[in-house]
Amino acid sequence: MSIRLTQEQIERYSRQIMIPDIGGKGQIRLRQGRVLVIGAGGLGCPAAFYLAAAGIGTLGIMDGDQVELSNLQRQILHATSDLGRAKVESATEKLTRLNPEVDVRAYPVRLTVENAAEIFAAYDFIVDGSDNFETKFLVNDVAVTLGKPFSHAGIVRFQGQTMTVVPGKSACYRCVFQEPPVPGEILNCQQAGILGAIAGTIGSIQATEAIKYVAGMEEDLLLDRILTYDAKSVTFRTIEVQKNPRCPTCADKKGAEAHFAS
Ligand code: ZN
Repeated sequence: MSIRLTQEQIERYSRQIMIPDIGGKGQIRLRQGRVLVIGAGGLGCPAAFYLAAAGIGTLGIMDGDQVELSNLQRQILHATSDLGRAKVESATEKLTRLNPEVDVRAYPVRLTVENAAEIFAAYDFIVDGSDNFETKFLVNDVAVTLGKPFSHAGIVRFQGQTMTVVPGKSACYRCVFQEPPVPGEILNCQQAGILGAIAGTIGSIQATEAIKYVAGMEEDLLLDRILTYDAKSVTFRTIEVQKNPRCPTCADKKGAEAHFAS
């Protein structure tokens, strides 16, 4: 590899470069890595913050909303003075202040069937920090179709869950959950509430998965397992899941394309 780390980079990232699994090689991979974070909210803020700190070369951040007062209890990239600003603008400012080396790309839009494939194509790994089932299934279906690894997560009240998907290798989100729930069947954060620190825990795990993937630790990801966190009983559990041979998204390439087109 022709890219070399500068003295300043060696010092900035020294505490992770000294980890044998990362090393200088892993740090160079992070420098060349491209990660997209969907949502500059409860999960996306801590995830993007740690990704920028770790020296990810290109960090996309996608969110069509503005900062509201009720966001500030958990969306830690935004400050009181940011009320009313576009979330991606506020996030870009904080991420760049933390680490000016990171090329932060802001997408002030909501993820849709129309824009997903083109945006995903420019990234190596996707962190799904969205807050609704429609987007989570869309992320899964487009990412699997394009062969892009991603981290799924969901949080509510005192609970969180997360899993990583490497298309072609591990079970996808739709293998496990099949279809979005009927609207109103499962409460979201807006309806049921969420403790901010739990978003931090789960968002940090998502950032860790992205860093591991980009740094070359593909064998150590949270694949074919869902990690659940119950903050009330302080319990982490991993539930083994399997690829569904009849999954409409990932069972075969043809099926995936057909599903995406619908
Ligand atoms: Zn599947």
